[in-house]
Amino acid sequence: MIVMKFGGTSVEDAKAIQRVAQIVQGRLKRGPVIVVSAMAGVTDALVRMASAAADGELDVAIAELAKVRARHLQAAEELVKVEPRKQLLAKFDENFAALDTLLRGVAAIGELSARTTDLVLSVGEVQSSLLVTAAFQSFGLAAEHVDSREVVVTDATHKSAQPLLELTTERLKDSLPALLAKSRVPVMGGFIAGTADGETTTLGRGGSDYSAAIIGAALSAEAIEIWTDVEGMLTTDPRICADAQRIRTISFDEAAELAYFGAKVLHPATLLPAVERDIPVYVLNSRKPRSTGTCIRSKVPPSKTTFRAIAAKKGSTVINLRAPRMLFASGFLKSMFDVLERHRCPVDLVSTSEVSVSLVVDPSHDVAGIVPELKQLGEVEVEPHKAIVCLVGKDIRGTVGIAASVFAVLAQAGVNIHMISQGASEINISVVIDEDAVPKAVQHLHAHFFPAQGESEDVNRRKPSGASGRAEKVIGLVAASAGGEE
Ligand code: ADP
Ligand code: ASP
Ligand code: MG
Repeated sequence: MIVMKFGGTSVEDAKAIQRVAQIVQGRLKRGPVIVVSAMAGVTDALVRMASAAADGELDVAIAELAKVRARHLQAAEELVKVEPRKQLLAKFDENFAALDTLLRGVAAIGELSARTTDLVLSVGEVQSSLLVTAAFQSFGLAAEHVDSREVVVTDATHKSAQPLLELTTERLKDSLPALLAKSRVPVMGGFIAGTADGETTTLGRGGSDYSAAIIGAALSAEAIEIWTDVEGMLTTDPRICADAQRIRTISFDEAAELAYFGAKVLHPATLLPAVERDIPVYVLNSRKPRSTGTCIRSKVPPSKTTFRAIAAKKGSTVINLRAPRMLFASGFLKSMFDVLERHRCPVDLVSTSEVSVSLVVDPSHDVAGIVPELKQLGEVEVEPHKAIVCLVGKDIRGTVGIAASVFAVLAQAGVNIHMISQGASEINISVVIDEDAVPKAVQHLHAHFFPAQGESEDVNRRKPSGASGRAEKVIGLVAASAGGEE
């Protein structure tokens, strides 16, 4: 069997869903399990509804709900035959009425818990999966809806729940293989799940990719296909560089690094379940289904270019901790990481000198709570609005002059580097810059390392591996290790 996940733009309206039905039709022999996101923009609308209700603007929330409802009804009318449409509309009504009641409740108490947020956000995938099932049936596909909230089991960490893989595997194995044996096409909502006690949870924004990987791993799928609105994983974010090029093959570790450092095309947790079972993941374009997209797998041919791709993660915060007395003091880094651990705050990058440490964290974590505790260890400075630009490629550590060329390009572009990390992983060089400088930095780096096809490849051709180059030594790169002491 294979898992096919269709993102928001791939199910955004009747036309898009029709294309999806055709794509699935062409894969029937491989036993597809379908995972769908909410229609494009619906989860954002649900977020707005929830926060408007919590702010006491119930009329704004209800008006937004009416728009979302109208989109679903419109698509149902265009896609689903009259008789089954009645049943679909009855289910739509039931779910939208429950959402209406929920929003009124939120407005009445003026408070929005994480648990309630999950209930509100789940409506997008609940409705889209019902819609796609009914549409498939009207096209003659033997589709059957499977409620992800009953089979994908997670802990109760609302808004970013962690899957409980054993229980999930058990439940998926109890339900899906029997359907596939009857040549049915199971259709499930991505992103949504449930606790063992039946409470609705979600896997975090963009989490439908993760759902697909969890389901694929549980059922030992032969492939996981992520269908989206671009031709695969690209050499950088196409919203920053219009000439980003498709990557044909990329390793799990390179792709995971890119996803973690901002390549939105994949949710960062997606590849873990696939790696564990060595299941290839394909990123494909639902508007150009014949294109071969990107294949992500464990072993890939070496890249002809220095780097495989560039990603950028905006919205980072740098925390600088300066503590002259840490000189020669053992256990200092432990105390610092203990603070972060207590606040469950992961560190994206870290660099140390003899008297100071710089950490890059995501400000969605409790920076305000962390800072006073760090102040007990030394002077603290917080720099918000930073970005991590990450260049990924195989064997960077063994390639002479690679860091120097990155720095030269950024210097030429007039981009100031706040922090550098290379060495923790063989496949990544990261720099921290001001958030505003991201487009300029990425465009210059991309133009240098991925010259348009047909242009000279000199700058981009791999140099032979060897000992660390002089440039790196002079610049004094810091081997970053999240959580580790050097
Ligand atoms: P979906 O709704 O299908 O899950 P997303 O919007 O989550 O789609 O992800 C696809 C988008 O990711 C693309 O439209 C593109 O703008 C963005 N993106 C960012 N970096 C990359 C990259 N390196 N390769 C491909 N797409 C990228
Ligand atoms: N609909 C959810 C979101 O927008 C999940 C997803 O699309 O992957 O975050
Ligand atoms: Mg996505």
